[in-house]
Amino acid sequence: MALDFTFTDEQRMLEDSVYKWATNWLEPQMEHMYEIDEMPKDLFKQTGDLGINGIVFDEKYGGAGLGYIETLLAYETIARVSNALSMTVGASQTLCFDNFRRNATEEQRAYVLPKAVTGEWIGCLGITEPNAGSDAMSMATKAEKKGDKYIINGSKIFITNGPVAQFMVFYAKTDPAAGPKGISTFFFEVDKVKGVKFEKIKKWGMRTSPTALVTFEDMEVPAENLIGGLNKGVAVLTSGLCTERITLSGCTLGGQRSCLELSLKYAKERVQFGKPIASFQTIQEKLANMYCGYKAGKFLAYSAAAYCDTLTNKSGGKGTDLDRMAAAALLFNGEMGTKIGLDAIQIFGGYGYCTEYAISRHFLDQKLWEIGAGTSEIRRMIIARELMRDDFKSGL
Ligand SMILES: Cc1cc2nc3c(=O)[nH]c(=O)nc-3n(C[C@H](O)[C@H](O)[C@H](O)COP(=O)(O)OP(=O)(O)OC[C@H]3O[C@@H](n4cnc5c(N)ncnc54)[C@H](O)[C@@H]3O)c2cc1C
Repeated sequence: MALDFTFTDEQRMLEDSVYKWATNWLEPQMEHMYEIDEMPKDLFKQTGDLGINGIVFDEKYGGAGLGYIETLLAYETIARVSNALSMTVGASQTLCFDNFRRNATEEQRAYVLPKAVTGEWIGCLGITEPNAGSDAMSMATKAEKKGDKYIINGSKIFITNGPVAQFMVFYAKTDPAAGPKGISTFFFEVDKVKGVKFEKIKKWGMRTSPTALVTFEDMEVPAENLIGGLNKGVAVLTSGLCTERITLSGCTLGGQRSCLELSLKYAKERVQFGKPIASFQTIQEKLANMYCGYKAGKFLAYSAAAYCDTLTNKSGGKGTDLDRMAAAALLFNGEMGTKIGLDAIQIFGGYGYCTEYAISRHFLDQKLWEIGAGTSEIRRMIIARELMRDDFKSGL
């Protein structure tokens, strides 16, 4: 058995450059931007210059040709400063553009991906609807074919980046009577269509990451904007969700790491009863638990990413080991993120309750990861389903 938990020199360099950028460029803006709930201007141009936008894309599109380990590492590192903006970058580059890349034609990729890499375009992905959340297959958005166009009617809710996006990938029913077997995947350029409205949703956490209610009213998209095959949307959706769950684990991991680092520093500096609070065993217990939780979650996420990178199609879905591993990575990290965030606030006492301290943002953002990309309850159902598969034999 060969176990090697060290990052390569190239991966360390990626981590160092992203962390340097996040602390120099992002950090100074975060308190104000969080208060006004605005995404920093030029965020995607900055991440484009850093080489993060097209991290898994082929070099011919301007990408870095790297894997999901590097994507996870980049998202973890951004999240050491901002969990919310790491999610925003992930929603554009992994949920939207990487999903598009896996399913579009070569001609479509050559047109779209270079704009995603430079940051000229921001993307969003629409699965969730007001009446179809965990039960995504019950979506009501319809796409009706009329000549060489599809006419789209319906709505999508909680769409990350919706208010700022130039490009959207979404799912709609092309054969409503066929249930899940009648769903297809579409894309459109926002400024090339009529009949779509993006309304910003107010949130108490993940501020700076813009979220929208998207309404389609007789929106027309060209028939060639259907990708992944007619009525094959479920396969597109479920295979993409695995890489999303693995790489977005980085958002919560980066937040967890900062909670631990900031708490450690604060506990050594803060003096009560004539001693640093770090000398009290109940504080030490929290720090030790935070460390164990972060390290365990890190192993789950990076081992899932490493496994994914070994697969030829780098894709999961029902009946695959990747489905179980991806759900486990985000389940554990989502719940651990909330626990670690709570412990960090407790260590900071009253100061942790004030927005001036970065720890308050780290805490507020963490709760999302028990909800977004499929809730904890749904992830447990996926893990159990895959464990109970007749041919399940590996991975323990
Ligand atoms: C900030 C934010 C960003 C998001 N970004 C996106 C995005 O970019 N694109 C997108 O498409 N969606 C996005 N989402 C939506 C997210 O994926 C959904 O909120 C999530 O899937 C849950 O759906 P719901 O909110 O409708 O909850 P519901 O499905 O209504 O669930 C409510 C509760 O019931 C539980 N529940 C439901 N069914 C079961 C069951 N069978 N067994 C046990 N418990 C169950 C759930 O676990 C949950 O606790 C985002 C959400 C948020 C808050």
